[in-house]
Amino acid sequence: MSRTLDPELRRALAARIRYHNEMGIYDFYRREASGEVATLAAEARGADAVTAEIQPESREEMSPRKGAAVAVPVAVEENFFELIAPKPEQGVSDPVKALKIIREDLGDCTRCPLHKQGRKQIVFGVGDPATDLMFVGEGPGADEDDQGEPFVGRAGQLLNNMIKAMGITREQVYIANIVKCRPPGNRTPEREECDTCSPFLMRQIAVIKPKVIVALGATAAKTLLAMNSSMAQLRGRFYDFKPAGVRIDDRSSDPRWDGCQLAVTYHPAFLLRDPRQKGEAWKDLQMVMRELGLKAPEKSV
Ligand code: SF4
Repeated sequence: MSRTLDPELRRALAARIRYHNEMGIYDFYRREASGEVATLAAEARGADAVTAEIQPESREEMSPRKGAAVAVPVAVEENFFELIAPKPEQGVSDPVKALKIIREDLGDCTRCPLHKQGRKQIVFGVGDPATDLMFVGEGPGADEDDQGEPFVGRAGQLLNNMIKAMGITREQVYIANIVKCRPPGNRTPEREECDTCSPFLMRQIAVIKPKVIVALGATAAKTLLAMNSSMAQLRGRFYDFKPAGVRIDDRSSDPRWDGCQLAVTYHPAFLLRDPRQKGEAWKDLQMVMRELGLKAPEKSV
């Protein structure tokens, strides 16, 4: 018998798994939860509690975490181990084909509650599958839900301008979101929805192998980095990033790729609400341009 993991515990375990992945350990074995899994869960919770003390949460853009009491699972849910199992696209060197496999695997997804809350279609992602630069936002809005493409509304227009200001075009980057279905009323996706959907994004990232990912807004940043810091704390630096739960030791397709740099900036929708922050966003993008060797154009955003 299994039951669904508490989202908090799931994230803590995912962080621990990522830590092991970074150490080169990919193979894990399932046991009854009363043994090592429970111990691992307890350790992971302990590590997360320490982090929480050091970095006070900023919860303005994501659903709040539950309190300190976290249930120890009776058994680990099946789909948690899907995160670390070999993926069908692994070994496929053509990124277009590999992304198609992920899209087919996603199917007419009903994995989280967003599938029954008015979505018209799944918004998978768009752009150059061999790009050096990815942008990751929060989730589709009404325009994106209509057209099946991320960032096509007003915020999308601003993102296009931001990309143009970097001296490149929208077609030269890849754009995706943390959740692929529109949250009703454009609400912020719940943490559980992010945790359920983001493994597919992680697989897209592992296929695309960008040099830099720009996380647009707090939801994208916190989900990708598994951190609860404020935007002020998250911006202004690069993070070493490897997609959680995905093997990236497929040396056959690109022996040079071992993760990438991740930068955080404001979501374009936020910049539309508070244009005074555009200058700060431009600083973030300039940092990315330096990393990618892009030439600064004469005019900024
Ligand atoms: S948001 Fe993601 S996980 Fe949820 S139903 Fe849509 S595709 Fe599936």
